[in-house]
Amino acid sequence: MKLSFVVPCFNEEENINRFYEEVNKTFCGLVPDYEIVFVNDGSTDKTGEELKKLYACDSSRVQVLTFSRNFGKEAAMYAGISKARGELVCIIDADLQQHPSVVVEMLKEMGEDSSVDCVAAYQANRKEGKAISGVKSLFYKLINKMAEVDFVNGASDFRLMKRPMVDAIISMSEAHRFSKGIFSWVGFNTKYIPYEVNEREFGETKWSLWKLIKYAIDGVVSFSTLPLKLSMGVGLTTSAASIIYLLVVIIQKLFFGIDVPGYATIVVLVLFLGGMQLFCLGILGEYISKIFIQSKNRPIYILKEHLVEDDEKG
Ligand code: UDP
Ligand code: MG
Repeated sequence: MKLSFVVPCFNEEENINRFYEEVNKTFCGLVPDYEIVFVNDGSTDKTGEELKKLYACDSSRVQVLTFSRNFGKEAAMYAGISKARGELVCIIDADLQQHPSVVVEMLKEMGEDSSVDCVAAYQANRKEGKAISGVKSLFYKLINKMAEVDFVNGASDFRLMKRPMVDAIISMSEAHRFSKGIFSWVGFNTKYIPYEVNEREFGETKWSLWKLIKYAIDGVVSFSTLPLKLSMGVGLTTSAASIIYLLVVIIQKLFFGIDVPGYATIVVLVLFLGGMQLFCLGILGEYISKIFIQSKNRPIYILKEHLVEDDEKG
């Protein structure tokens, strides 16, 4: 049974060879038939050259997809799984933070229970800053309350999947891709195993706190319509509160002769209501912008080059 590794690469020049060697060291002899599908996601360093060299040495095991520019990891994963030829497909990072030896464990888990369609690894201990870790935990709590599908805290895209699940994911060609949600949405029997994430030795992470927040908003908007309903709730509540406030003012004036000092109250109310309206419009805007982009039906990625043996070019 063929095993395909799908490896998104963005500026990973120092890691390409190390990754390739680690995979060979781990799988030569263990799995006779495997391929590595590298996706060069618009790297600006020497990643492209390294990949070409690798393909020249080992075209039977290596495929190289080169994007016309950086489309992001989500697009790179989609391209990789679309071109992978294995019955089993493993998505793994190029930086060796996710060690190929964990894939051996995944294979074992899959071999032991034939009903398992996917083995996903989650980080046993997060090795990242407190701020990032806190934001991530909060995000998982929030999204699990909002969305219909389950999101497992710490689970990354690092996983091994059987062909039917891979085909299901390929069939979801939405523009705003949020894989963690897509993996859950397609269903299938997924087993989670813990793994120790390694330190990145070369290059640097492509995630900043701001990028993570944007990604989180994408996730919520892609998998839940609750914010839209919440904004209606906020509107109703503030309207009800303002009517109650008006009644209180009238009663105070009519029955107790108290004049309500108006200026400050009006300023506060106008600011509050104005802010709330803009906030709710912003939520609406997030959904509309996603519809706008999706309605253009643009491809998820543009391939500049596809290095592959046989007639599989596409
Ligand atoms: N990556 C990519 N395109 C991007 C950003 C990242 O293909 O726009 C790849 C990157 O080369 C790596 C993987 O996605 O193989 C994970 O990225 P990174 O190590 O920066 O994420 P982290 O491990 O810090 O979550
Ligand atoms: Mg990494």
